[in-house]
Amino acid sequence: MSARRVLVLGGTGDAVALVRRLCDDPALAVTTSLAGRVARPTRPPGNVRIGGFGGADGLGAYLRDERIDAVVDATHPFAATISRNAVRACARSCVPLLALERPRWTPVAGDRWERVADVTDASTRARDLGARIFLTIGRQGLAPFAAIDDRWFLIRAIDPPDAPLPKYHVLMLARGPFALADELTILRAHAIDVLVTKDSGGDATDAKLVGARALGIPVVVIDRPIVDGAATVFDRDGVVAWLAKLPASRTLLEGSSVVTL
Ligand code: NAP
Repeated sequence: MSARRVLVLGGTGDAVALVRRLCDDPALAVTTSLAGRVARPTRPPGNVRIGGFGGADGLGAYLRDERIDAVVDATHPFAATISRNAVRACARSCVPLLALERPRWTPVAGDRWERVADVTDASTRARDLGARIFLTIGRQGLAPFAAIDDRWFLIRAIDPPDAPLPKYHVLMLARGPFALADELTILRAHAIDVLVTKDSGGDATDAKLVGARALGIPVVVIDRPIVDGAATVFDRDGVVAWLAKLPASRTLLEGSSVVTL
């Protein structure tokens, strides 16, 4: 019996951890797809391909050409374009799709959060809330902040941003996970009075929220984009269980007929 061919849409620590686990199963042949945005990505085991597919049509063609049996979307919650493309491509190609989603962050007693819809609203609220702003939204979505020239920013990203940056800023290049003690040191050393974050979820980057709570610092939390259309699980066990239920060989649905290859 040939191994089932699984495409994991990656670019996250969750995807790496998932693929490490899936690669233990000889019944699975796993390929991870990376967008190619990070200069030195953490490479998971198994096959890795790098670069965009060329939209939903390109992804659909890849699924067919590579005879992919199943797709697991383990991309970042804010990588909405690739997730929407996966929904469209898998639906058209009749390839089963599962999204591995990180639970959202939820505030607890002592948190001073303000949820906003997008980076533009975040820039407005952050400017209202403080003079020294810690931006932890990565290197994308910085444009609305670049226009603010009467606030100081600490900008943390893995790689240097390509886009223009605010007049007054310090760039900190770092890759999570981040420890609470380090986050507290940063918040204190830079006299941060407002933190801006995406609602990325997970425990790799949530120490900044704990630090902000401890120091009474307000946090502007950008809500996730909505992507509908994929079955969703919230942990690796869920992915393993879903894959175990798939047919053993590739099945193509063509119109109303079912062809097993
Ligand atoms: P995006 O806006 O959803 O996608 C933009 C385009 O990049 C897609 O249309 C696709 O190009 C390509 N792409 C994205 N992820 C890909 C993947 N895993 N494999 C192949 N092509 C991919 O994504 P993004 O927000 O730019 O994020 C890019 C990658 O960084 C994602 O894989 C994501 O998991 C990771 N990441 C994103 C964030 C974030 O905050 N957005 C944070 C951490 C990690 P084509 O249309 O040509 O196929």
